[in-house]
Amino acid sequence: DLWQGIDFSRSKAEARVDGSTGVKFGDVAGIDEAVEELQELVRYLKNPELFDKMGIKPPHGVLLEGPPGCGKTLVAKAIAGEAGVPFYQMAGSEFVEVLVGVGSARVRDLFKRAKVNKPSVVFIDEIDALATKRQGIFKESKDHLYNAATQERETTLNQLLIELDGFDTGKGVIFLAATNRKDLLDPALLRPGRFDRKIRIRPPGAKGRHDILKIHASKVKMSESVDLSSYARNLPGWSGARLAQLVQEAALVAVRKRHNSILQSDLDDAVDRLTVGPKRVGIDLGYQGQCRRATTEVGVALTSHLLRRYEHAIVEFCDRISIVPRGQTLSQLVFHRLDDESYMFERRPQLLHRLQVLLGGRAAEEVIYGRDTSKASVDYLADASWLARKILTIWNLENPMVIHGEPPPWKKSVKFVGPRLDFEGSLYDDYNLIEPPLNFKMDDQIAQRTEELIGDMYRKTVSLLKRHHAALLKTIKVLLDQEEISGEEIEFILNKYPPQTPLYLLE
Ligand code: ADP
Repeated sequence: DLWQGIDFSRSKAEARVDGSTGVKFGDVAGIDEAVEELQELVRYLKNPELFDKMGIKPPHGVLLEGPPGCGKTLVAKAIAGEAGVPFYQMAGSEFVEVLVGVGSARVRDLFKRAKVNKPSVVFIDEIDALATKRQGIFKESKDHLYNAATQERETTLNQLLIELDGFDTGKGVIFLAATNRKDLLDPALLRPGRFDRKIRIRPPGAKGRHDILKIHASKVKMSESVDLSSYARNLPGWSGARLAQLVQEAALVAVRKRHNSILQSDLDDAVDRLTVGPKRVGIDLGYQGQCRRATTEVGVALTSHLLRRYEHAIVEFCDRISIVPRGQTLSQLVFHRLDDESYMFERRPQLLHRLQVLLGGRAAEEVIYGRDTSKASVDYLADASWLARKILTIWNLENPMVIHGEPPPWKKSVKFVGPRLDFEGSLYDDYNLIEPPLNFKMDDQIAQRTEELIGDMYRKTVSLLKRHHAALLKTIKVLLDQEEISGEEIEFILNKYPPQTPLYLLE
Protein backbone atom coordinates (compact mmCIF):
# COMPACT_ATOMS: atom_id res chain seq x y z
CA ASP A 1 0.00 0.00 0.00
CA LEU A 2 1.44 3.22 -1.18
CA TRP A 3 0.23 5.21 1.80
CA GLN A 4 1.34 2.79 4.42
CA GLY A 5 3.30 4.31 7.21
CA ILE A 6 2.22 7.80 6.36
CA ASP A 7 -0.08 9.21 8.96
CA PHE A 8 -2.00 12.05 7.41
CA SER A 9 -3.93 12.77 10.52
CA ARG A 10 -0.83 14.11 12.16
CA SER A 11 -1.45 17.77 11.84
CA LYS A 12 1.37 20.20 11.46
CA ALA A 13 0.09 21.70 14.69
CA GLU A 14 2.21 19.19 16.49
CA ALA A 15 5.25 21.25 15.71
CA ARG A 16 3.65 24.23 17.31
CA VAL A 17 2.96 22.81 20.70
CA ASP A 18 4.80 25.03 23.04
CA GLY A 19 5.28 25.20 26.75
CA SER A 20 4.58 28.85 26.30
CA THR A 21 4.42 31.20 23.36
CA GLY A 22 6.34 33.72 25.40
CA VAL A 23 4.05 36.46 24.09
CA LYS A 24 2.46 38.71 26.69
CA PHE A 25 -0.24 41.35 26.54
CA GLY A 26 2.57 43.86 26.95
CA ASP A 27 3.64 42.96 23.41
CA VAL A 28 0.28 44.03 22.06
CA ALA A 29 -0.82 47.64 21.68
CA GLY A 30 -3.54 49.65 20.04
CA ILE A 31 -6.34 47.16 20.67
CA ASP A 32 -6.97 47.79 24.35
CA GLU A 33 -10.68 46.99 24.28
CA ALA A 34 -10.10 43.57 22.77
CA VAL A 35 -7.32 42.83 25.25
CA GLU A 36 -9.59 43.86 28.09
CA GLU A 37 -12.22 41.39 26.94
CA LEU A 38 -9.71 38.61 26.46
CA GLN A 39 -8.28 38.93 29.97
CA GLU A 40 -11.18 36.84 31.15
CA LEU A 41 -9.99 33.89 29.09
CA VAL A 42 -6.60 34.08 30.76
CA ARG A 43 -8.19 33.99 34.18
CA TYR A 44 -10.13 30.94 33.08
CA LEU A 45 -7.10 29.13 31.66
CA LYS A 46 -5.13 29.77 34.80
CA ASN A 47 -7.70 28.07 36.94
CA PRO A 48 -10.42 26.20 35.03
CA GLU A 49 -11.50 24.22 38.11
CA LEU A 50 -12.44 27.35 39.97
CA PHE A 51 -14.70 28.44 37.14
CA ASP A 52 -16.24 24.98 37.06
CA LYS A 53 -16.93 25.03 40.75
CA MET A 54 -18.58 28.40 40.49
CA GLY A 55 -20.65 27.15 37.60
CA ILE A 56 -19.25 29.75 35.19
CA LYS A 57 -19.05 28.54 31.64
CA PRO A 58 -16.22 29.85 29.52
CA PRO A 59 -17.10 30.90 25.98
CA HIS A 60 -17.28 28.07 23.51
CA GLY A 61 -15.37 29.73 20.77
CA VAL A 62 -14.03 33.21 20.23
CA LEU A 63 -13.90 34.71 16.77
CA LEU A 64 -11.35 37.45 16.23
CA GLU A 65 -12.36 39.48 13.27
CA GLY A 66 -10.52 42.32 11.58
CA PRO A 67 -8.12 43.36 8.83
CA PRO A 68 -4.83 41.52 8.36
CA GLY A 69 -1.78 42.45 10.36
CA CYS A 70 -3.57 44.09 13.26
CA GLY A 71 -2.64 41.55 15.89
CA LYS A 72 -5.20 38.72 15.83
CA THR A 73 -2.56 35.99 15.93
CA LEU A 74 -0.47 38.01 18.32
CA VAL A 75 -3.25 38.47 20.83
CA ALA A 76 -4.23 34.79 20.63
CA LYS A 77 -0.64 33.87 21.41
CA ALA A 78 -0.62 36.38 24.24
CA ILE A 79 -3.59 34.65 25.86
CA ALA A 80 -1.67 31.37 25.91
CA GLY A 81 1.50 33.19 26.94
CA GLU A 82 -0.13 35.02 29.84
CA ALA A 83 -1.76 31.83 31.10
CA GLY A 84 1.40 29.81 30.48
CA VAL A 85 -0.44 27.09 28.56
CA PRO A 86 0.32 25.32 25.25
CA PHE A 87 -0.79 26.96 22.03
CA TYR A 88 -1.95 24.92 19.04
CA GLN A 89 -2.08 26.87 15.83
CA MET A 90 -3.13 25.96 12.33
CA ALA A 91 -4.18 27.92 9.31
CA GLY A 92 -7.55 27.16 7.74
CA SER A 93 -5.84 26.49 4.44
CA GLU A 94 -3.81 23.69 6.01
CA PHE A 95 -6.98 21.67 6.48
CA VAL A 96 -8.03 21.95 2.92
CA GLU A 97 -6.66 18.96 1.12
CA VAL A 98 -7.75 17.13 -1.91
CA LEU A 99 -7.22 13.78 -0.27
CA VAL A 100 -10.46 12.56 1.17
CA GLY A 101 -10.68 12.49 4.91
CA VAL A 102 -7.40 14.21 5.63
CA GLY A 103 -8.92 17.53 6.63
CA SER A 104 -11.35 16.10 9.12
CA ALA A 105 -8.68 13.84 10.55
CA ARG A 106 -6.52 16.89 11.13
CA VAL A 107 -9.31 18.71 12.90
CA ARG A 108 -9.92 15.72 15.16
CA ASP A 109 -6.24 15.37 15.82
CA LEU A 110 -5.78 19.04 16.63
CA PHE A 111 -8.52 19.03 19.24
CA LYS A 112 -7.41 15.71 20.67
CA ARG A 113 -3.95 17.03 21.33
CA ALA A 114 -5.28 20.19 22.86
CA LYS A 115 -7.49 18.19 25.21
CA VAL A 116 -4.69 15.90 26.28
CA ASN A 117 -2.56 18.90 27.21
CA LYS A 118 -5.27 21.02 28.73
CA PRO A 119 -5.55 23.72 29.77
CA SER A 120 -4.58 24.93 26.33
CA VAL A 121 -5.44 27.24 23.46
CA VAL A 122 -6.41 26.15 19.95
CA PHE A 123 -6.11 28.81 17.31
CA ILE A 124 -7.21 28.53 13.69
CA ASP A 125 -6.04 31.37 11.53
CA GLU A 126 -7.87 32.29 8.28
CA ILE A 127 -10.81 30.16 9.25
CA ASP A 128 -12.64 31.46 6.18
CA ALA A 129 -10.46 29.21 3.99
CA LEU A 130 -12.03 26.23 5.71
CA ALA A 131 -15.46 27.47 6.56
CA THR A 132 -16.77 29.46 3.62
CA LYS A 133 -20.48 29.33 3.02
CA ARG A 134 -21.52 25.93 1.77
CA GLN A 135 -22.73 25.66 -1.75
CA GLY A 136 -25.47 23.11 -1.12
CA ILE A 137 -25.27 19.54 -2.21
CA PHE A 138 -27.31 20.02 -5.38
CA LYS A 139 -25.03 22.55 -6.91
CA GLU A 140 -22.84 19.92 -8.43
CA SER A 141 -20.40 21.08 -11.00
CA LYS A 142 -19.31 19.09 -14.04
CA ASP A 143 -15.78 19.33 -12.76
CA HIS A 144 -15.07 16.19 -10.84
CA LEU A 145 -12.07 17.50 -8.97
CA TYR A 146 -13.96 20.62 -7.96
CA ASN A 147 -16.76 18.52 -6.51
CA ALA A 148 -14.34 16.37 -4.62
CA ALA A 149 -12.57 19.40 -3.16
CA THR A 150 -15.84 21.05 -2.16
CA GLN A 151 -17.11 17.93 -0.56
CA GLU A 152 -13.88 17.43 1.27
CA ARG A 153 -14.05 20.94 2.64
CA GLU A 154 -17.57 20.38 3.83
CA THR A 155 -16.61 17.18 5.61
CA THR A 156 -13.82 19.07 7.30
CA LEU A 157 -16.14 21.87 8.31
CA ASN A 158 -18.63 19.36 9.67
CA GLN A 159 -15.91 17.80 11.73
CA LEU A 160 -15.03 21.21 13.11
CA LEU A 161 -18.67 21.80 14.02
CA ILE A 162 -18.81 18.44 15.75
CA GLU A 163 -15.70 19.29 17.76
CA LEU A 164 -17.15 22.64 18.71
CA ASP A 165 -20.50 21.16 19.71
CA GLY A 166 -19.01 18.29 21.63
CA PHE A 167 -16.65 20.65 23.28
CA ASP A 168 -17.72 20.20 26.84
CA THR A 169 -17.51 23.41 28.64
CA GLY A 170 -15.19 23.18 31.55
CA LYS A 171 -12.73 21.07 29.65
CA GLY A 172 -10.03 23.69 29.88
CA VAL A 173 -9.54 24.23 26.16
CA ILE A 174 -10.15 27.64 24.64
CA PHE A 175 -10.85 27.74 20.95
CA LEU A 176 -10.00 30.90 19.04
CA ALA A 177 -10.26 31.57 15.33
CA ALA A 178 -9.41 34.56 13.18
CA THR A 179 -10.76 35.90 9.93
CA ASN A 180 -10.72 39.07 7.93
CA ARG A 181 -13.73 37.96 5.92
CA LYS A 182 -16.52 37.36 8.38
CA ASP A 183 -18.99 37.83 5.53
CA LEU A 184 -17.69 34.65 3.89
CA LEU A 185 -18.14 32.43 6.91
CA ASP A 186 -20.66 29.67 6.95
CA PRO A 187 -23.59 30.80 9.09
CA ALA A 188 -23.58 27.44 10.85
CA LEU A 189 -20.30 28.42 12.43
CA LEU A 190 -21.69 31.66 13.79
CA ARG A 191 -24.69 30.07 15.46
CA PRO A 192 -24.90 30.42 19.26
CA GLY A 193 -23.06 27.73 21.11
CA ARG A 194 -20.26 27.75 18.57
CA PHE A 195 -18.63 31.12 18.37
CA ASP A 196 -20.43 32.80 21.17
CA ARG A 197 -17.93 35.60 21.42
CA LYS A 198 -16.96 37.79 18.51
CA ILE A 199 -14.29 40.35 19.04
CA ARG A 200 -13.41 42.99 16.53
CA ILE A 201 -9.73 43.78 16.15
CA ARG A 202 -9.55 47.26 14.69
CA PRO A 203 -6.66 48.95 12.94
CA PRO A 204 -4.77 51.14 15.40
CA GLY A 205 -5.40 54.87 15.73
CA ALA A 206 -2.64 57.44 16.12
CA LYS A 207 -2.03 56.65 19.79
CA GLY A 208 -2.14 52.92 19.11
CA ARG A 209 0.36 53.32 16.30
CA HIS A 210 2.65 55.21 18.64
CA ASP A 211 2.43 52.46 21.28
CA ILE A 212 3.05 49.76 18.68
CA LEU A 213 6.10 51.61 17.38
CA LYS A 214 7.39 51.92 20.94
CA ILE A 215 7.05 48.16 21.47
CA HIS A 216 8.95 47.31 18.32
CA ALA A 217 11.51 50.08 18.80
CA SER A 218 12.33 48.64 22.21
CA LYS A 219 13.53 45.45 20.51
CA VAL A 220 16.11 47.23 18.36
CA LYS A 221 18.68 49.91 18.98
CA MET A 222 16.85 53.14 18.33
CA SER A 223 18.54 56.50 18.77
CA GLU A 224 17.16 58.60 21.64
CA SER A 225 16.61 61.53 19.31
CA VAL A 226 14.04 59.75 17.13
CA ASP A 227 10.53 61.18 17.50
CA LEU A 228 8.30 58.14 17.05
CA SER A 229 5.10 60.13 17.58
CA SER A 230 5.52 61.95 14.27
CA TYR A 231 5.63 58.63 12.41
CA ALA A 232 2.59 57.44 14.29
CA ARG A 233 0.66 60.54 13.27
CA ASN A 234 1.81 60.63 9.68
CA LEU A 235 1.15 56.99 8.85
CA PRO A 236 -2.63 56.72 9.03
CA GLY A 237 -4.04 53.32 8.19
CA TRP A 238 -0.82 51.47 8.87
CA SER A 239 -1.35 48.13 10.58
CA GLY A 240 0.74 46.79 13.43
CA ALA A 241 2.42 44.41 11.01
CA ARG A 242 3.40 47.25 8.70
CA LEU A 243 4.74 49.32 11.60
CA ALA A 244 6.77 46.34 12.79
CA GLN A 245 8.10 46.00 9.26
CA LEU A 246 9.02 49.70 9.25
CA VAL A 247 11.19 49.29 12.33
CA GLN A 248 12.88 46.20 10.84
CA GLU A 249 13.50 47.99 7.56
CA ALA A 250 14.96 51.01 9.39
CA ALA A 251 17.27 48.69 11.29
CA LEU A 252 18.50 47.22 8.00
CA VAL A 253 19.10 50.69 6.59
CA ALA A 254 21.03 51.65 9.73
CA VAL A 255 23.22 48.58 9.43
CA ARG A 256 23.86 49.27 5.77
CA LYS A 257 24.88 52.84 6.56
CA ARG A 258 27.03 51.68 9.46
CA HIS A 259 25.14 53.72 12.03
CA ASN A 260 25.49 52.69 15.66
CA SER A 261 21.76 53.02 16.22
CA ILE A 262 18.68 53.75 14.11
CA LEU A 263 18.49 57.45 13.25
CA GLN A 264 15.57 59.56 12.11
CA SER A 265 17.00 59.54 8.57
CA ASP A 266 17.04 55.73 8.58
CA LEU A 267 13.35 55.67 9.47
CA ASP A 268 12.60 58.23 6.76
CA ASP A 269 14.44 56.09 4.28
CA ALA A 270 12.48 53.03 5.45
CA VAL A 271 9.15 54.86 5.10
CA ASP A 272 10.06 55.80 1.54
CA ARG A 273 11.11 52.25 0.75
CA LEU A 274 7.88 50.80 2.06
CA THR A 275 5.65 53.39 0.44
CA VAL A 276 7.15 54.25 -2.92
CA GLY A 277 9.94 51.74 -3.26
CA PRO A 278 13.71 51.82 -3.23
CA LYS A 279 15.76 54.58 -4.82
CA ARG A 280 15.79 54.47 -8.55
CA VAL A 281 19.12 54.67 -10.22
CA GLY A 282 19.77 55.55 -13.82
CA ILE A 283 17.02 58.12 -14.09
CA ASP A 284 18.25 61.60 -14.83
CA LEU A 285 15.91 64.55 -15.00
CA GLY A 286 18.74 66.83 -16.00
CA TYR A 287 19.54 69.95 -14.06
CA GLN A 288 16.67 71.95 -15.54
CA GLY A 289 14.24 69.18 -14.71
CA GLN A 290 15.50 68.95 -11.15
CA CYS A 291 15.06 72.71 -10.78
CA ARG A 292 11.44 72.53 -11.92
CA ARG A 293 10.74 69.65 -9.62
CA ALA A 294 12.37 71.36 -6.67
CA THR A 295 10.49 74.59 -7.41
CA THR A 296 7.05 73.02 -7.39
CA GLU A 297 7.71 70.92 -4.30
CA VAL A 298 9.15 73.86 -2.42
CA GLY A 299 6.22 76.01 -3.54
CA VAL A 300 3.75 73.60 -1.97
CA ALA A 301 5.82 73.10 1.17
CA LEU A 302 6.60 76.75 1.73
CA THR A 303 2.98 77.80 1.23
CA SER A 304 1.94 75.39 3.97
CA HIS A 305 4.52 76.79 6.39
CA LEU A 306 3.72 80.40 5.52
CA LEU A 307 -0.01 79.94 5.97
CA ARG A 308 0.52 78.50 9.41
CA ARG A 309 2.98 81.20 10.32
CA TYR A 310 1.15 84.28 9.13
CA GLU A 311 -2.47 83.26 8.89
CA HIS A 312 -2.66 80.75 11.73
CA ALA A 313 -4.05 78.29 9.26
CA ILE A 314 -4.94 74.85 10.54
CA VAL A 315 -3.38 72.95 7.72
CA GLU A 316 -0.95 70.11 7.21
CA PHE A 317 2.55 71.42 6.81
CA CYS A 318 5.53 69.89 5.16
CA ASP A 319 7.73 67.61 7.27
CA ARG A 320 10.12 66.62 4.53
CA ILE A 321 10.78 66.92 0.81
CA SER A 322 12.93 64.55 -1.16
CA ILE A 323 13.78 64.88 -4.83
CA VAL A 324 15.38 61.45 -4.98
CA PRO A 325 13.39 59.41 -7.51
CA ARG A 326 11.94 56.25 -6.00
CA GLY A 327 9.64 53.61 -7.40
CA GLN A 328 7.19 55.37 -9.67
CA THR A 329 7.65 58.86 -8.29
CA LEU A 330 10.22 61.53 -8.99
CA SER A 331 9.94 63.29 -5.66
CA GLN A 332 8.08 63.04 -2.40
CA LEU A 333 6.58 65.49 -0.06
CA VAL A 334 5.62 64.27 3.39
CA PHE A 335 3.03 66.22 5.30
CA HIS A 336 2.66 66.56 9.00
CA ARG A 337 -0.87 65.38 9.56
CA LEU A 338 -3.30 66.99 11.94
CA ASP A 339 -4.87 65.02 14.76
CA ASP A 340 -7.28 62.41 13.44
CA GLU A 341 -10.25 64.29 14.91
CA SER A 342 -9.43 67.45 12.99
CA TYR A 343 -10.56 65.76 9.82
CA MET A 344 -14.08 65.12 11.00
CA PHE A 345 -15.65 68.49 10.41
CA GLU A 346 -13.33 70.65 8.48
CA ARG A 347 -14.47 74.17 7.89
CA ARG A 348 -14.32 76.28 4.82
CA PRO A 349 -11.29 78.39 5.81
CA GLN A 350 -9.28 75.27 6.48
CA LEU A 351 -10.19 73.78 3.12
CA LEU A 352 -9.39 77.00 1.32
CA HIS A 353 -5.98 77.07 2.95
CA ARG A 354 -5.43 73.54 1.76
CA LEU A 355 -6.43 74.65 -1.69
CA GLN A 356 -3.78 77.35 -1.51
CA VAL A 357 -1.18 74.78 -0.49
CA LEU A 358 -1.98 72.65 -3.53
CA LEU A 359 -1.75 75.68 -5.77
CA GLY A 360 1.65 76.56 -4.26
CA GLY A 361 3.46 74.42 -6.84
CA ARG A 362 2.21 76.29 -9.85
CA ALA A 363 2.44 79.61 -8.00
CA ALA A 364 6.12 79.04 -7.23
CA GLU A 365 6.76 78.24 -10.88
CA GLU A 366 5.16 81.52 -11.84
CA VAL A 367 7.17 83.46 -9.28
CA ILE A 368 10.43 81.96 -10.53
CA TYR A 369 9.80 81.39 -14.24
CA GLY A 370 7.05 83.87 -15.00
CA ARG A 371 4.40 82.57 -17.37
CA ASP A 372 6.71 79.82 -18.55
CA THR A 373 5.08 77.12 -16.40
CA SER A 374 5.58 73.39 -16.91
CA LYS A 375 3.97 70.03 -16.39
CA ALA A 376 5.82 69.64 -13.10
CA SER A 377 2.93 71.08 -11.11
CA VAL A 378 -0.05 69.52 -12.88
CA ASP A 379 -0.63 66.75 -10.35
CA TYR A 380 -1.09 69.32 -7.64
CA LEU A 381 -3.35 71.34 -9.94
CA ALA A 382 -5.53 68.31 -10.56
CA ASP A 383 -5.84 67.77 -6.81
CA ALA A 384 -6.68 71.43 -6.37
CA SER A 385 -9.47 71.35 -8.95
CA TRP A 386 -10.91 68.24 -7.38
CA LEU A 387 -10.82 69.82 -3.94
CA ALA A 388 -12.41 73.05 -5.18
CA ARG A 389 -15.22 71.14 -6.81
CA LYS A 390 -15.86 69.20 -3.64
CA ILE A 391 -16.01 72.42 -1.64
CA LEU A 392 -18.61 73.70 -4.06
CA THR A 393 -20.67 70.57 -4.53
CA ILE A 394 -20.41 67.62 -2.16
CA TRP A 395 -19.65 69.70 0.89
CA ASN A 396 -21.63 72.67 -0.35
CA LEU A 397 -19.62 75.16 1.65
CA GLU A 398 -20.13 78.07 -0.67
CA ASN A 399 -22.90 80.54 -0.06
CA PRO A 400 -25.22 81.22 -1.76
CA MET A 401 -24.56 78.13 -3.82
CA VAL A 402 -27.60 75.96 -3.83
CA ILE A 403 -27.52 72.51 -5.29
CA HIS A 404 -30.62 72.01 -7.37
CA GLY A 405 -32.07 68.94 -8.94
CA GLU A 406 -32.55 65.39 -7.77
CA PRO A 407 -30.15 64.15 -5.16
CA PRO A 408 -27.67 62.22 -7.25
CA PRO A 409 -27.55 58.45 -6.63
CA TRP A 410 -24.23 58.55 -4.83
CA LYS A 411 -25.76 60.81 -2.23
CA LYS A 412 -27.97 58.02 -1.01
CA SER A 413 -25.21 55.53 -0.65
CA VAL A 414 -22.38 57.65 0.62
CA LYS A 415 -20.53 55.77 3.27
CA PHE A 416 -18.18 57.26 5.75
CA VAL A 417 -14.85 56.02 4.59
CA GLY A 418 -12.84 58.19 6.93
CA PRO A 419 -9.56 59.88 6.32
CA ARG A 420 -7.85 58.61 3.24
CA LEU A 421 -5.65 55.75 4.14
CA ASP A 422 -2.74 56.34 1.88
CA PHE A 423 0.17 58.32 2.95
CA GLU A 424 2.22 59.20 -0.06
CA GLY A 425 1.56 62.66 -1.23
CA SER A 426 -2.02 62.59 -0.11
CA LEU A 427 -2.76 65.93 1.33
CA TYR A 428 -6.33 65.59 2.34
CA ASP A 429 -8.70 63.07 3.66
CA ASP A 430 -11.49 61.80 1.54
CA TYR A 431 -14.89 61.03 2.90
CA ASN A 432 -15.94 59.48 -0.30
CA LEU A 433 -14.02 58.68 -3.37
CA ILE A 434 -16.90 59.01 -5.75
CA GLU A 435 -16.65 61.51 -8.57
CA PRO A 436 -18.60 64.65 -7.80
CA PRO A 437 -21.81 64.92 -9.74
CA LEU A 438 -21.26 66.85 -12.91
CA ASN A 439 -24.48 65.91 -14.53
CA PHE A 440 -26.92 68.12 -12.82
CA LYS A 441 -28.37 71.42 -13.74
CA MET A 442 -25.80 73.70 -12.22
CA ASP A 443 -22.98 72.29 -14.33
CA ASP A 444 -21.93 75.52 -15.99
CA GLN A 445 -22.27 77.52 -12.87
CA ILE A 446 -20.17 75.06 -10.90
CA ALA A 447 -17.49 75.06 -13.56
CA GLN A 448 -17.44 78.84 -13.47
CA ARG A 449 -17.35 79.01 -9.68
CA THR A 450 -14.56 76.44 -9.59
CA GLU A 451 -12.49 78.59 -11.87
CA GLU A 452 -13.20 81.71 -9.84
CA LEU A 453 -12.37 80.02 -6.56
CA ILE A 454 -9.14 78.55 -7.90
CA GLY A 455 -8.26 81.87 -9.51
CA ASP A 456 -8.76 83.77 -6.25
CA MET A 457 -6.76 81.31 -4.20
CA TYR A 458 -4.05 81.14 -6.83
CA ARG A 459 -3.53 84.90 -6.88
CA LYS A 460 -3.33 84.94 -3.09
CA THR A 461 -0.71 82.22 -3.17
CA VAL A 462 1.38 83.93 -5.82
CA SER A 463 1.52 87.13 -3.80
CA LEU A 464 2.32 85.19 -0.63
CA LEU A 465 5.28 83.52 -2.31
CA LYS A 466 6.41 86.75 -3.98
CA ARG A 467 6.54 88.35 -0.61
CA HIS A 468 8.83 85.55 0.53
CA HIS A 469 10.89 85.43 -2.62
CA ALA A 470 14.23 85.16 -0.82
CA ALA A 471 13.11 82.28 1.36
CA LEU A 472 11.68 80.53 -1.70
CA LEU A 473 14.95 80.80 -3.60
CA LYS A 474 17.00 79.71 -0.61
CA THR A 475 14.83 76.67 0.07
CA ILE A 476 15.03 75.57 -3.57
CA LYS A 477 18.78 75.97 -3.48
CA VAL A 478 19.15 73.90 -0.32
CA LEU A 479 16.86 71.19 -1.68
CA LEU A 480 18.83 71.00 -4.92
CA ASP A 481 22.10 70.73 -3.01
CA GLN A 482 20.97 68.19 -0.42
CA GLU A 483 18.23 66.39 -2.40
CA GLU A 484 16.24 66.41 0.85
CA ILE A 485 15.02 69.05 3.23
CA SER A 486 13.18 68.79 6.51
CA GLY A 487 10.36 70.88 7.91
CA GLU A 488 12.71 72.26 10.57
CA GLU A 489 15.16 73.39 7.92
CA ILE A 490 12.35 75.20 6.13
CA GLU A 491 11.38 76.95 9.38
CA PHE A 492 15.01 77.88 9.92
CA ILE A 493 15.20 79.46 6.47
CA LEU A 494 11.95 81.36 7.09
CA ASN A 495 13.40 82.81 10.29
CA LYS A 496 16.54 83.87 8.50
CA TYR A 497 14.82 85.36 5.45
CA PRO A 498 11.94 87.58 6.57
CA PRO A 499 9.36 88.78 4.05
CA GLN A 500 10.65 91.43 1.65
CA THR A 501 7.63 93.31 0.44
CA PRO A 502 6.33 95.58 3.17
CA LEU A 503 2.67 95.09 3.86
CA TYR A 504 1.70 98.62 2.84
CA LEU A 505 2.67 97.84 -0.71
CA LEU A 506 0.24 94.96 -0.83
CA GLU A 507 -3.48 95.29 -1.32
P1 ADP B 1 -3.10 39.18 12.07
O1 ADP B 1 -3.16 37.84 12.74
O2 ADP B 1 -4.16 40.13 12.55
O3 ADP B 1 -3.05 39.13 10.57
P2 ADP B 1 -0.54 39.26 13.32
O4 ADP B 1 -0.91 39.12 14.75
O5 ADP B 1 -0.04 38.05 12.62
O6 ADP B 1 -1.74 39.89 12.50
O7 ADP B 1 0.54 40.43 13.20
C1 ADP B 1 1.80 40.25 12.59
C2 ADP B 1 2.89 40.97 13.37
O8 ADP B 1 2.68 42.38 13.34
C3 ADP B 1 2.90 40.63 14.83
O9 ADP B 1 3.67 39.49 15.07
C4 ADP B 1 3.51 41.86 15.46
O10 ADP B 1 4.91 41.87 15.32
C5 ADP B 1 2.96 42.96 14.60
N1 ADP B 1 1.70 43.49 15.15
C6 ADP B 1 0.47 43.41 14.58
N2 ADP B 1 -0.45 43.98 15.35
C7 ADP B 1 0.16 44.42 16.46
C8 ADP B 1 -0.26 45.09 17.65
N3 ADP B 1 -1.56 45.42 17.83
N4 ADP B 1 0.65 45.38 18.59
C9 ADP B 1 1.96 45.07 18.41
N5 ADP B 1 2.42 44.44 17.31
C10 ADP B 1 1.56 44.11 16.35
